[in-house]
Amino acid sequence: MKFTPEQYQLPDISMQPFLDDKEIWSFIDAAHPSLEQVEAIVKKSLDKNRLSIAETALLVNAREPEMIEMIKAGARSLKEKVYGKRIVLFAPLYVGNYCSNNCRYCGFKVSNKSAVRKTLTKQELIANVQALEEHGQKRIILVFGEHNTYSPGFIAETVRTVYDTRKNHGEIRRININAAPLDIEGFKTVKASNIGTYQVFQETYHHETYKICHPSGRKADYDYRLTALDRAMEAGIDDVGIGALFGLYDWRFEVLSLLRHVNHLEACYNVGPHTISFPRIQDASEYDLDDRYQVTDEEFTRLVAILRLAVPYTGLILTARESEATRKEVLSYGCSQIDAGTKLEIGAYAKNPDVNQNLNKEQFKINDDRTLAQVIDELLEADYIPSFCTACYRKGRTGQHFMEFSVPGFIKKFCTPNAMLTLAEYIMDYAGEATAVKGWQVIERNLNEMDNEGYKTELIHRIERIKQGEHDLYF
Ligand code: SAM
Ligand code: SF4
Repeated sequence: MKFTPEQYQLPDISMQPFLDDKEIWSFIDAAHPSLEQVEAIVKKSLDKNRLSIAETALLVNAREPEMIEMIKAGARSLKEKVYGKRIVLFAPLYVGNYCSNNCRYCGFKVSNKSAVRKTLTKQELIANVQALEEHGQKRIILVFGEHNTYSPGFIAETVRTVYDTRKNHGEIRRININAAPLDIEGFKTVKASNIGTYQVFQETYHHETYKICHPSGRKADYDYRLTALDRAMEAGIDDVGIGALFGLYDWRFEVLSLLRHVNHLEACYNVGPHTISFPRIQDASEYDLDDRYQVTDEEFTRLVAILRLAVPYTGLILTARESEATRKEVLSYGCSQIDAGTKLEIGAYAKNPDVNQNLNKEQFKINDDRTLAQVIDELLEADYIPSFCTACYRKGRTGQHFMEFSVPGFIKKFCTPNAMLTLAEYIMDYAGEATAVKGWQVIERNLNEMDNEGYKTELIHRIERIKQGEHDLYF
């Protein structure tokens, strides 16, 4: 029988469910790592190569202390080699907690009658954005429950209001979204408001567990959620974030599934997710799941190190769900974005700055409630460069985030100088005296480490312009 050329073409797998539980388990069951194998895999990653699912399976099954130390040391050196010292800061802003789903782990679920439901009015939204701006925030993520009220038009309008809101020198320069999956038209509407990243977490990739955790509502449809970011890509949003909620099912399965998701997006759209999030389940109002799959602190830090090695060029986001100590360790494995000054209670940034942890108005509890100023101060003490950089997205360098990793000198040329510029701006506008001293010292030290004299001169010139009162300078 003769085949036509068309018959040789691969099937179009975009917008198709791609996760096979048995396949993921077969990788885990087949993985019996030796020390030599772990060493070789870590080396492959340090040579800036993505790991396969089979290789990552060997890492998730590595249990000998020596192997685990090798994995963590590998992630630390990848961070030092590639990511440099900048840590990008952002804050979540919860817009509304009406929700028609019933996620068993979430305080916003429709069956939680004790939850106080609220959607910020336009005035309240503006007041909260101004409060964030007054602290120096420049990047936020807007968070919504899944409800008819939060239509694509509503989300887009909210984004526009936030961009238009100014307080003194304050402005929000990048808005990411964490909201329900949309259809292609809906994603187009939201894209038109000029968003940064659109995040949808699968929560658990394990079908049976997914069914138990999401008994009703739109979110009960596993495949519709799994293909959400395919629709976002089809709509032209090339900057998307994936994630799993750790603690619902075996963490090794979720790590490999996240990788499977990365592979799918890369295969279909030639660009993987911009970021991976790995929220760990926290106590919430009317929380009703058992703790069989709870992830210990050690497992959690290990899984972040494994993710770092598996996808060396994807941004890793850590949130205030984690304690200060865990955050410190995870930062050393190359997680490059954290939230700071976080308040989850709706409207809390403007209304009642000292009150937090009211479980009836929050989605869940957070474990790091330090202010933005405190986080910045501590990052500076640990020799990190706190960054509010939004340059790539505003310069149109999107969808190719792997440039940070693959284009030689990208981080040195763009990320580190932009981190210094945004830090200088923060110091001038918002920092207390002690923080300012530490901040200028960090900038000075990093300037001294720069080897490209031309770049250094230009950067010094721009920092001087910021000192004279200019704003928003970037490369
Ligand atoms: N409603 C949208 C959704 O479910 O995708 C977006 C917002 S939802 C509030 C954002 C994320 O919070 C969820 O995707 C889930 O991973 C996380 N989350 C929910 N309950 C949590 C809990 N008890 N502890 C930690 N994270 C939780
Ligand atoms: Fe609603 Fe999202 Fe909470 Fe589920 S996780 S109940 S969809 S807000």
